[in-house]
Amino acid sequence: MPHRQRSRNLEYTGKVLLLATLYYAFGKPAMELAALSTYASLLWPSAGIALGMLLAYGPGLWPGILIASFLLNSFLLDAAWTGTDFDGVKILPALGVGVGAVLQALAGYALVKRFAGLPLSIDCPRDVLRLMMLTGPIASVISATFGVVSLSHAGVIPQGQELANWRTWWCGDMLGSIIFMPLFLVFSGTLPRIFSHHKSQVMFPTVAFASLIIPLVVTLVAWKQLTYHTQDKARTQFENTVLENERAFDYRLDSFEQTLLSGVGLFSGSADVSRAEWRAFADALRVQDRFPGVRGIGFTAFVKPADVGSFLAETRADGAPDFGIHPDGGDEFMIVKYMEPESRNMLALGMNVATHEGRRAASWKAAESGEAAVTPRVMLVQDQKKTPGFVLLLPFYRNGAVLDTVEQRRAALIGWISAPFNSETFLTGLSVGQGVDFDLAVYDNSSENPENLIYSTADIRAKPSFVLRKDVEVKQRKWHFVWRSTPAFERKSASNEPFIILISGLLFTGLFGLLLVMMGRRNETVERMVETRTAELAEREANLAQVIDKLTQSNAELERFAYVVSHDMQEPIRAVANFSSLLWHQYESKLDPAGQKYLTIISDSARRLQAMVSDLLEYARVGQGARAHERIDSNLLMQYVLDNLKVSIDEHDAEVSYENLPSFMGYPVQFMSLMQNLINNAIKYQPAGARPQVVVTATDQGDHFLFSVRDNGIGIDPANAEKIFEPFKRLHTYQDYNGTGLGLAVARKIVDNHGGRIWVESKPGAGSTFFFTVKK
Ligand code: ADP
Repeated sequence: MPHRQRSRNLEYTGKVLLLATLYYAFGKPAMELAALSTYASLLWPSAGIALGMLLAYGPGLWPGILIASFLLNSFLLDAAWTGTDFDGVKILPALGVGVGAVLQALAGYALVKRFAGLPLSIDCPRDVLRLMMLTGPIASVISATFGVVSLSHAGVIPQGQELANWRTWWCGDMLGSIIFMPLFLVFSGTLPRIFSHHKSQVMFPTVAFASLIIPLVVTLVAWKQLTYHTQDKARTQFENTVLENERAFDYRLDSFEQTLLSGVGLFSGSADVSRAEWRAFADALRVQDRFPGVRGIGFTAFVKPADVGSFLAETRADGAPDFGIHPDGGDEFMIVKYMEPESRNMLALGMNVATHEGRRAASWKAAESGEAAVTPRVMLVQDQKKTPGFVLLLPFYRNGAVLDTVEQRRAALIGWISAPFNSETFLTGLSVGQGVDFDLAVYDNSSENPENLIYSTADIRAKPSFVLRKDVEVKQRKWHFVWRSTPAFERKSASNEPFIILISGLLFTGLFGLLLVMMGRRNETVERMVETRTAELAEREANLAQVIDKLTQSNAELERFAYVVSHDMQEPIRAVANFSSLLWHQYESKLDPAGQKYLTIISDSARRLQAMVSDLLEYARVGQGARAHERIDSNLLMQYVLDNLKVSIDEHDAEVSYENLPSFMGYPVQFMSLMQNLINNAIKYQPAGARPQVVVTATDQGDHFLFSVRDNGIGIDPANAEKIFEPFKRLHTYQDYNGTGLGLAVARKIVDNHGGRIWVESKPGAGSTFFFTVKK
């Protein structure tokens, strides 16, 4: 196997195991949270973690969910840990639950991918809401349905409770998903960022991670505290109820003993108590009505073996002719002489309780101590149902006997007042909460051995919330009381508060996290946008600079070319002009009229060409290299200009005026050329025979001067106002107005060199005004 493949497999297995571990670790405590009467938990974080894992690392991790869910629900690990047998292992239903959990996570993944898109983008509250809806209420239907169907089929969920379980299951998965999925994403997306450069599919800012720790910790602490508090309250309540129960028991036993004491009183009041008297006494007491569980009240006589005969005779004579001792024999006789009401206690009459080991011991204990005593558990002969019962015994002695020592008491013993009672009825209904808020189980002796169980309100339930155990001294015998809280009590005393705090705290934390993430993401988006735009702009600028560079370069090359060409052409053109003029002067007479006409055309063209070349040369020269700035006194320069134009001015009888022209920094030769061009045009472009009038002015405009050259000439169509500044652009034929079309192009270049601009305002026939500015 290639190395890379192997490490990829290893990484995959690691992630599956991680998912299974997290699923199990969060699922285990959540199961404890399960509502008392249902199997399902009200908060199932594992659902959110499973979905988060799939969203972050891909849906291929699903086996991790199956493994953990199976283990959680099969009770396999429980059985292994607690060392109990594996009877509780439920393979098929656990698989059903696991498949449901896998399908739910995969469905959640598919829904998010289809409707929200992956990698996850959470840019606005709507994204948050959509994510919660998709992963929460919708997907949770799957697991709840699979789980409840599987478990109710297996009998884990009792019949009739399917709907309640489904509701809790759905609610638990939904809450788990919408709370723990974002939490997981925030944590898992941030951790790699903090600890390594590894990237998961979804990235979240570190700040979100840090800000979540605080509300999370606060929530958990508050929940824990409140849970303790609620449990404490419930425990106190339980203990109080139990105490009340215990007191009721003491009271019942004491009042019972009081009754026996009255029997003792009856005997001490007379020398002998007859059967009829005892019956009257018992009737008056209404034992059965007043003392639940008591089968009767009787007198057991202590008879020495030697006296048995006389005892029998006496008893039979007292209205009980059939009285017999059973079982007969033995060395000691404790014979039940009376037991009222007799109708219910026939079988007890005449019984020699000394033959019963436990009873004999208890009887002696009572006799020797002079106190009441309870027998060990006995099966009452008079009870057809043979439920466990006891006999309460109170000894009494000869009247006037001294009873200070055990021997004295033994010697003076007459018998016992005894009351057999059915423990179940006796212990039933001691206090209001019994069987409602708590179940009571009572054992004879201290051990919780089922054989010693003498009373239980209900089947003994495993894992009650509260249990109290106590050994109670019951008339010289030890009983063991166990009080267990009932589900009803647990429900009643359980408060939703801690759970609500937990859910809302976690919900808040989750939402807070998502909002932080959202804000972070938005900042990131904006930053990224600004970055791209800036980069684009920089690129465009660089391109522009390149173009400008190239243009400037080619412009310069062009000007250089024009300069070289015009410069080099000057010589041959001058030669053509000179020689055509020579030809004209020396050979005019020798040429026929046609020859003379051709020669005229040649010399005119040569002159024109000469003018063009010289203008071109000037045009090219104006753009070449910067010469030094000098102060220009434009008033003074105007005089030179007019001198240069003197011939033309005179020829056209032109009037050129100017005054108060400013001085500024510039190129004097260029400035002269500019003025000369403009004034020359103003004189030239006149209607035939007109007298040109030219006015030159200048005004101060702050950082520059504005010059104007106004004439009364033929004017210019505004449509051509721009074009005339282009090289070689002319609006007239050479025949109408001579010229090269370069004058204004040169003018614009010169104005450019002086940091200004040039334009014309004119209308045909209304004269023209040329404006230009120069920097101060
Ligand atoms: P040229 O005068 O050599 O033809 P210019 O560049 O100086 O070339 O002028 C370009 C054109 O602008 C001229 O052909 C003319 O038609 C027009 N023009 C220039 N100045 C004036 C003016 N003052 N009045 C009317 N038209 C003018």
